Amino acid sequence: MRLDNQRRSTNVEYRTGGAGGGGGRGGGGIPLRIPRLSLPVILIIGIAALAFHFLAPAALKEQVYGQIFGASAGSGASGGAGPAQASQTCPAGQEEHCQFFEAVLGSTEDVWGPRFQQGQLPRPSNGQPAQYAQPRLVVFFGPSVATECGTAGTDVGPFYCPADSQLYINPSFYDVMRQRLNAPGDFAQAYVIAHEVGHHVQNLIGATRLVDSARGGRTANQMSVRLELQADCLAGVWGRAAGRALEVSNEDLQEALNAAHAIGDDTLQRQSRGYTDANSYTHGTSAQRMRWFREGFESGDARRCDTFSRDYSQL
Ligand SMILES: [Zn+2]
Repeated sequence: MRLDNQRRSTNVEYRTGGAGGGGGRGGGGIPLRIPRLSLPVILIIGIAALAFHFLAPAALKEQVYGQIFGASAGSGASGGAGPAQASQTCPAGQEEHCQFFEAVLGSTEDVWGPRFQQGQLPRPSNGQPAQYAQPRLVVFFGPSVATECGTAGTDVGPFYCPADSQLYINPSFYDVMRQRLNAPGDFAQAYVIAHEVGHHVQNLIGATRLVDSARGGRTANQMSVRLELQADCLAGVWGRAAGRALEVSNEDLQEALNAAHAIGDDTLQRQSRGYTDANSYTHGTSAQRMRWFREGFESGDARRCDTFSRDYSQL
């Protein structure tokens, strides 16, 4: 995968220092608060859970948050010292990360802009031939970050907040991927971004609202799985479409599939508690996550990412 010759997005923001700035308020010893939107307010990639040896989300994100809150003492409980400094200038010493984020986000913009114009989008769609509204990627270096969805500790992992249409990531997560998830590689790292951008696409086409309305009901977990697998498929579509420019190799593809496998609900649950409970899945199994990433990657067609009309047992 090659990024040095890529166009770099200007929609990346860097936050250093505490959790200030943005919508929520940091501090108070609480790593994560969801003040208003209950969820799927924050759509995590599901990795965070396992990264810190927690169970994968048991019943939508509240429980995930609960687990993280309960078990993450010392790893994100502070709002940091003083307000965060937000800037579009790359912090000193972080150039490699900055180039990576700007180039990968730029490539997602180049992929999704035309697809919105041409209406090549998955169902469920609100039917509007929409303009692609580019999301902002907030790269934070402190222990927590304030968002319109609340304040999140690093433990949450990369996530998308529909309320402010922003993606959030602390680059330290890539160490977690490499070391704890055994999911190394730059293309695997890019897949994480592309998955979150997939959630942004879902927000624009109305899929997120659909899942939100099922919240608390009998099908809530299944709807979450549908949403997450679709985001994986959309990440695959990006991988295919951007593949030529990024010189994506077969090894790169394997990296992404390996990462998709590592964050499957069954794999995470087996690692964390030794058994699996399919009713508690919220992101899909390892096999499903690989399958849907591959579906997007092989077809390059977002319309193939229809995880909502299919029978649940056929996902
Ligand atoms: Zn996700």
